[in-house]
Amino acid sequence: MDTTIDWGKLPFGYYPTDYNVRCEFRNGQWGPIEVSQSDTINIHMAATAIHYGQEIFEGLKAFRGKDGKIRIFRLEDNARRLQESAKGLLMEPVPTEIFREMCLKAVKLNERFIPPYGSGASLYIRPLEIGLSPRIGVKEADEYLFIIMVTPVGPYFKGGFKCTDICIMRNFDRVAPLGTGRWKVGGNYAASMMPTHIAHEKGYSAVLFLDPKEKKYLDECGPANFYAIKDGKYITPKSDSILPSITNMSLMTLAQEMGMEVEQRHITVDELESISEAAACGTAAVCSPVGEIDDLDTGKKYIIAKDRKPGPVTTEFVRRLEAIRHGEEEDTHGWCTIVE
Ligand SMILES: *Cc1c(COP(=O)(O)O)cnc(C)c1O
Repeated sequence: MDTTIDWGKLPFGYYPTDYNVRCEFRNGQWGPIEVSQSDTINIHMAATAIHYGQEIFEGLKAFRGKDGKIRIFRLEDNARRLQESAKGLLMEPVPTEIFREMCLKAVKLNERFIPPYGSGASLYIRPLEIGLSPRIGVKEADEYLFIIMVTPVGPYFKGGFKCTDICIMRNFDRVAPLGTGRWKVGGNYAASMMPTHIAHEKGYSAVLFLDPKEKKYLDECGPANFYAIKDGKYITPKSDSILPSITNMSLMTLAQEMGMEVEQRHITVDELESISEAAACGTAAVCSPVGEIDDLDTGKKYIIAKDRKPGPVTTEFVRRLEAIRHGEEEDTHGWCTIVE
């Protein structure tokens, strides 16, 4: 293990590691899996990825457990979602077997960057796929590059698990009603940068986007899914423009096991009046609890956590999920892939 890294202080940023793993799709087939020590890529300047946005990605994590074993969380689900994203942009889906082999290889080769148990840090795994073929007319590529890079990231909450405030804004959408929101596409992030920048300038951690069609229902919370606890039920928005978060799916399972009812449905803005907890959820943070939601257009403020402390359900979600991922609690759902 690398002894020079202060694991607990690592940001969610790019820290160079030793190797990345690559595979190219050419002449109608995926080629050999290649290991690279370079952190740059050499592509055609007219590649579809950089002109017409044929770029998709994933994000998952590997953890060093209490028993010393390394676990990757829900690898197959990420592989499947990448395949869905590929189909959405007319790109070549990466078979699960190639995804799995490259993931294991990237983690094993960079073993010294997997943070120690108890540090709160983890190894972030970032698979990405890009269209390589040069095009000037708008058309999908027929050659693709799939890369898995990894980088150690520190604990999301450095000053302790705490609430942040978010805001509702109606003059921007990150995605269209039947657009690319359901896929993990780089372009969705490009569209979210301006509203997110405005929110940050006003002191909010994220924008709670409304559904892009009617602006009536809650959609995504920045680059994360949103859930709330209402009358003891777990509620989370249902919409064609939301990316199916694997963290959210995991929390729905845990909520049911904790005896809660789970509702995936339209949630109106005024329902925010009657919720006891709210949080953004995703791989980076697991849960990022919300203190207050301010509607910038109506001036209305929804105070969720009066004492500014994360609620009991959200706190228990994070505890359970972390315990499963670190081998402290039995993985009854088969969510973890142990790296041998
Ligand atoms: C990646 C992502 C999420 C979170 O998904 P997880 O699988 O839980 O990490 C949520 N929303 C968007 C837009 C995303 O890109």
